[in-house]
Order: sequence, then C-alpha cells, then structure tokens
Amino acid sequence: MTSAYTDLVAHHQETALLAGTSALLAWDQETYMPSGAGEVRARQLALLAKLHHERATDARVRDWLATAGADARLAADPDAAANLRGMQRDFDRATRLPSSLVTELAETESRAQQAWAEARAQNTFHKFRPWLDRLLHLQQQKADCLRRPGQDRWDALADLYEPGMCGQDLEALFAPLRQRLVALHERLRAGSRPDDSFVRVPVDEPRQEAFVRAVVTKMGFDFTRGRIDRSAHPFCTSTGGDVRLTTRFHRDNVLDALGSTMHEGGHGLYEQGLEPRHRGTPLGEAASLGIHESQSRLWENHVGRSAAFWQWCWPLAQQHLGDACHGHDAGSVFRAANCVRASLIRVEADEATYDLHVMVRFELERAMLRGDLGVAELPGQWNALYERYLGIVVPDDRRGCLQDVHWSCGLFGYFPTYTLGNLYAAQFAAAADRELGGLAPMLQRGDFEPLREWLRRRIHQHGRRHDPAALCREVTGAPLSSAAFLRHLEDKFTTVYGLC
Ligand code: ZN
Repeated sequence: MTSAYTDLVAHHQETALLAGTSALLAWDQETYMPSGAGEVRARQLALLAKLHHERATDARVRDWLATAGADARLAADPDAAANLRGMQRDFDRATRLPSSLVTELAETESRAQQAWAEARAQNTFHKFRPWLDRLLHLQQQKADCLRRPGQDRWDALADLYEPGMCGQDLEALFAPLRQRLVALHERLRAGSRPDDSFVRVPVDEPRQEAFVRAVVTKMGFDFTRGRIDRSAHPFCTSTGGDVRLTTRFHRDNVLDALGSTMHEGGHGLYEQGLEPRHRGTPLGEAASLGIHESQSRLWENHVGRSAAFWQWCWPLAQQHLGDACHGHDAGSVFRAANCVRASLIRVEADEATYDLHVMVRFELERAMLRGDLGVAELPGQWNALYERYLGIVVPDDRRGCLQDVHWSCGLFGYFPTYTLGNLYAAQFAAAADRELGGLAPMLQRGDFEPLREWLRRRIHQHGRRHDPAALCREVTGAPLSSAAFLRHLEDKFTTVYGLC
C-alpha cells in the first residue's frame, strides 16, 4: 500500500473515533442525561461536529486522495478501490459545507430537539414553530451547498442517507404502492378482524424485559459488544467499539416492546456484522439507511410477525410472561401481532399501513424544502393527508405533526428510507428463503443462525462496497421493486383475515 493510502486510512480511523464519541454523547442525551445538562451537551456536540468536519475537510485528505487515486495498484485492489470511492464521495460532500454552517446546524439541532420534546409533551406546536422555521432555513442552506446544478433540494439531502435515490424515482415507486396499500387496507376492513386481546394484557416491566432480552440474545446480538437501555423512542447507535440499542416498555403492550427490540436488534446485528478490520473506513460502514432499515424490518416483521416464529417463541413467552399467556396460544398471538388498524402514530403502525405514514411525511418535507409549504401550514396539511391516505382524523398535533423526532434533529430527506427498508427487507427475505431452502422450518425451531449468517455474508460484511441499488441486484438478482413486499403483505393478511 502507498503511504498516501495508509495515511488516509489512519486519518479516517481517527475521525471515526470522534464520530463514535459524538454518538455516545447523543445516546446519553436520550437515555440517562439529566435535563439540566442540556445546554452544555448542545455545546459539546457542536464542538465535536466542528472538529469532525475540520478533519473530514483537511486539505491533506485532498492530496492523499489525489495521490492514491492515481495509483494503478490501488485501483486493482477491490478493497482499496472501494474505500477510495467512498472517501472521495465523503470528502466532496463535506467540503461543500462551510464549517460555520455545520456548527450552527449541530447546535440548533440539539436545542431544537429539546424544544420539540417539550412542545410535544405540552401539545404546543406554536412553541416549536420558530425552531422548525430556523431548522428548515438551515436545511435549505445545506441543500443549496450540496446540490448539483438543477438538482432538487430534497434530492441533495436524501442522497446523504440513500446514495443515488431521488424524489422522482421514489414517487414512481410510491404512487402505485400507495394505491395497492390503500386497496389492501380496504379489503381488510371487510374481513374478520383477529382477536388482539393479547396486546392489552398487562405484564410487569421486568418480565417484559427478560422476555425481549431472551429473544434478542437468540437472534445473536452480542452483549459483550453492545447493550440495551430505554428511551422514549427506541433507536440503535454505534460508538465504533460497541452497539447501543434502546427499547421501551408499556405495561399493557408486550408486543410493542418485542417489536421495538427485534427492530433495533436487527439494526444492531448489521452494525456488529460489519468487518472489524475495516472499522473507520467506508468498507466498515453500512451501505445506506434504507439497507440499515431493511435489516431491522426483516427481523421485526418477516421473523417476529411470522406464524413460524410464534410456534418457537410461544413456550418462551409462557416461561417469561406467566399468567398473561393464559387463554392464548401461538396461533392467536401471531394473529394479534398482525392486526391492521389505521392509526395516528407511525412507530405504532402495522405492516400494512406503515408506509402510508411515510408517504405523508415524504410529500410534506419535499414541499417545505421547495418553499411551497410554510411551517405555519404544516399541521393543517398533515391532518388533510392523514384523512386522505389513512381515512382518520388527527385530533391534536402531539399525535400529528409533532410526533416524530426527525425534523427537530435535522433529518430532512430521511423518512423514505423506512419504506425503502420495507421493500428491501421483503426482497432480501424472499432471496434468503430461496437460497436457504425455506425460512419457516428454521424459525419454527428457533434456529436463527442460518438467516443471520446469510445476512452477514451477503450484506453486512460488504459495508459500502456497493451502492444500495447495486447491492440489491447483487443479493437478490433483481432491481428494487415493491413486488416482494406486496406479495408478502397480501399472502399474510389474507390468511390472517380469512380472505383467501
Ligand atoms: Zn429502524
């Protein structure tokens, strides 16, 4: 290896240590930090963001990239070539953003997030409105720095999360999907709704915790390189050396805790499945957020909401949840886990209506970034789209446009990665099912290793070697489409609702 490449790798590895430190402070802010530390935490995170940006845009990186990029031996080495492509892309993006904007974004986002949490708790959109105005303005500036001539602002931001994806392609993918989902939802309303009383059975938190820990351990999450804590909104973050998952417990909804934990566990397995020898370089990072989400949704839905999984899991549930299981069985809990009902809250939505929530946000944030929708009109437009797509009336902003943390922490262009994750997950699950000779018998035995290792081999260990579209073709033999996802939903729900 040339010294320019060795220097580049060493520099990136050190920069990744800073990113991991920021992630740890952000994790603490959501889990254990006392509220009085908020001011200082915002400044700490802003300082780290500034230092990170200074390192990412260091003039030496440009020189190293130029020297290493001209080296034919490196171009012939697939690992080095993939790392150089990723580093060049990151450098180009980072150098388009002035340091002052990066610092201002980090500080404003940290404060806005705290303001959002208060506004949501008090159901006072008007208190969050000036923050959202400010954030939107900063995101527009950020998009203007990043975008190529003629490129849409939303596209420039979305490319940070899902390289190569643009709003127009998504619209083409989403419009027919939306029609099919709305139609499926209508058919299900006419079917016989499964008994979901198990969802409301009260279970003490320690019992729920022991149960979900047993499941995530069985999935293969490595607790020597990770931990699980609690937060209002479950998430997964990597500090570089270990992986932090959070989950939540509602006394009367053990399936919510299980779904959240399996979801974040799926993210965690991806992070733990990245190659340690590539840590700190693009080959040691996830391919995209859509691919990341595919891993969580695959475990949450294709495993955790399947009939086969519940045949294995039911004795474990009985062991941990005790009397709560009385009067239920594996079949009834499988059906309870697949009850479809249009609801107000995205993170609580079922598999059949979840993506309609995402489409509402996709439409609104594109309009806001274009300047077609003012922040003051957001609640009204939000409520109108919920009525149109989900057929429900939003009673207040707390359960409406104030529900998600994303915009408050600067994540514009991010929401569609959830739906992409669902589509990738279905396509990956179908491919795994074909290649492993049927997933159901394995899930029924609680033998998750073949699936986990398949995901590791086919997806995790490649890091950012391929862009998401190419990875999907490589793993499944076909470009991304909604076909596998719709097949999965229609097969499952027509069975659960007795429509076949
Ligand atoms: Zn997720």
